[in-house]
Amino acid sequence: MERFNGYFGEFGGAYVPEGLQKALKDLEEIFYKYIDDEDFINELNYYSKQYVGRENPLYFARRLTEYVGGAKIYLKREDINHTGSHKINNALGQALLAKRSDKKRIIAETGAGQHGVATATVCALFGMDCTVYMGAVDMKRQEHNVFRMKLLGAKVVPVTEGNATLKEAVDKALEDYIENYNDTFYLLGSAVGPHPYPMIVREFQSIIGKEAKRQILEQEGRLPDYIIACVGGGSNAIGLFHPFVEDKEVKIIGVEPGGKGLDSKHHAAAISKGEVGILHGFKSYALDESKYSIHSIAAGLDYPGVGPEHSYYKATGRADYVSITDEEALEAFYKLTKLEGIIPALESSHALAYGMKLASSLPKDNIIIVNLSGRGDKDVNQIVEMENNI
Ligand SMILES: *Cc1c(COP(=O)(O)O)cnc(C)c1O
Repeated sequence: MERFNGYFGEFGGAYVPEGLQKALKDLEEIFYKYIDDEDFINELNYYSKQYVGRENPLYFARRLTEYVGGAKIYLKREDINHTGSHKINNALGQALLAKRSDKKRIIAETGAGQHGVATATVCALFGMDCTVYMGAVDMKRQEHNVFRMKLLGAKVVPVTEGNATLKEAVDKALEDYIENYNDTFYLLGSAVGPHPYPMIVREFQSIIGKEAKRQILEQEGRLPDYIIACVGGGSNAIGLFHPFVEDKEVKIIGVEPGGKGLDSKHHAAAISKGEVGILHGFKSYALDESKYSIHSIAAGLDYPGVGPEHSYYKATGRADYVSITDEEALEAFYKLTKLEGIIPALESSHALAYGMKLASSLPKDNIIIVNLSGRGDKDVNQIVEMENNI
């Protein structure tokens, strides 16, 4: 693989203390050493197929398409993966890198708990020691995932600083990494963080777009008109988008969490409403937490920043970034469940809601691919609670 300097235009980079620079340099070398290595690729492909269950389908949602009455809607079924979302693609890839770097201790951050579960899962699979940092507030909200991680053998460390959510959990994981990187591998969960993480996460998530491209060519004989994904940190989106970036006829749309509306202070639309700055060691759009209370109905989307490559595509105009509110996402959640028998994650419901809106405005011969980043089983309790409170 060609060497990359870590900058997407002005975005990205590695703005970190000296102690961390050496660790990141080592990680970069390990990545380049193995990413073209035949044994590594074979092992990654083996587990992707036999353990994760790839390739997953690109499903034509016929009833949803008929209901919307416009462009054809295809769903990339990341929800079918083992552990229920795209996060396992990245966790598996990084765990295999960790194995080769002889680091037996794995650390990770988690917000909603999905990345923590994916990490605890691959650590069980490969017999590695696993520590997950999680905000104390998130631990209460996402009890079920805390139980899952503990069952899988992980140590879950509550973080009580600040708002006690994802941002503080990342701070803690970075601190641990600086202190212990000689024997510790930091398995980072989204296309964020200092270089080389955004590049590494993109590489392992790009399987989504590579498969989708092959599948749509098989089923339709041409590329799609639009590809759409929700954007938290931006890993499922960059995984779908990247293999299509050079295909100029394909329009790319990222959907941010609009929470209670972009005019409210309660959302997490970093690109739409943020400013360029440095958060967690990389330059990108981010929301100022003194001005906004970071919020989304989908716990996996409430991160104040966004991956640097998305900021770059926004700046260059290669992708458009829009937002969908909590209410709109919830509506799409119900619609897909009733019309197709697929319960989507609330995160994915954001991409779906925008895809449905867009499809209704397009002619019937247009094709849209929506990334269904995860399944909604994890959200059922939250939905039932909300229904009981109405
Ligand atoms: C974590 C998560 C997301 C958001 O993370 P990205 O890095 O933006 O992909 C989206 N969907 C699901 C199902 C998730 O678990």
